[in-house]
Amino acid sequence: MIYLNNMLVSESKAVVSVFDHGFLYGDGVYETLRAYDGVLFKLNEHIERLFQSASLIKLKLPKTREEIGKAVYETLQANRLKEAYARVTVSRGAGPIGLDPRLCPKPTLAIITNTFKEYPPSYYKKGVKVAIVNTRRNFKGALDPQIKSLNFLNNVLAKTEAIDRSAYEAVMLNYRGYVAEGTISNIFFVKDKVIFTPSIEVGILDGITRRIIIDIAKETGIKVKEGKFRPDNMYEADEIFISNTTMEVMPVKEVDDVKFNVSAGDMTKAIHKAYRSKVREYIREING
Ligand code: PLP
Repeated sequence: MIYLNNMLVSESKAVVSVFDHGFLYGDGVYETLRAYDGVLFKLNEHIERLFQSASLIKLKLPKTREEIGKAVYETLQANRLKEAYARVTVSRGAGPIGLDPRLCPKPTLAIITNTFKEYPPSYYKKGVKVAIVNTRRNFKGALDPQIKSLNFLNNVLAKTEAIDRSAYEAVMLNYRGYVAEGTISNIFFVKDKVIFTPSIEVGILDGITRRIIIDIAKETGIKVKEGKFRPDNMYEADEIFISNTTMEVMPVKEVDDVKFNVSAGDMTKAIHKAYRSKVREYIREING
């Protein structure tokens, strides 16, 4: 079942107009969440970011924070899902051709849930390959990466470059050549037991997993430096990992042609372990 606008409908009935400006112009925003044991991890943070993205494109969401949270749970439960992902999409809605958002009086809300398919265990054991691609991350003065928008062509182009280079994820630099982020992930590297990660100012999405990782580091006395880094800083790192809501913390075994010894990636393993305990703690709190 899919939640569309105000109700749950079967997949075949979950259809959106070809005049929807999400389809025509990529005009809309979205969130991806993960549910563990039927609990939506960091639901409030995701909903808050959805509202933040919507506000940055001047889109008024059709429901309150509480209503959207409830609708995501309803969709999960209607599909009897426990280990799942949920995608909440809000587009500008249907309207005549033309960019003026006022042409679309009613935003479209769609909530898709599905079983979470575990990543291959080898990705965590052996790490994944990433490639620093030529496609630059959107300049934040043009389309701020803080907006989790439906306009994903920047990321799609980067991804195709990664595929051409047999890499799992692309790492994009910003317009000035500083390391920004992956197509669907944030990036971290470790050098001499300090964790480095591009700062939000570089022009990246303020990842919810990224925030948790920074909190974990602070709580456990690991130094974190947010800033501007060059590809060389990555090539010279001791460990590298990427993060997002579904992959959590994933080690990187190779950046371009530079290889890393993932089995010696103690910091990556420790951060992932701590992340997992935060998830368990959260589930316990919600389930009471
Ligand atoms: N950066 C980009 C461009 C993303 O699309 C995502 C998630 O999809 C992330 C970073 C990671 O964000 P989060 O940890 O909130 O899933």
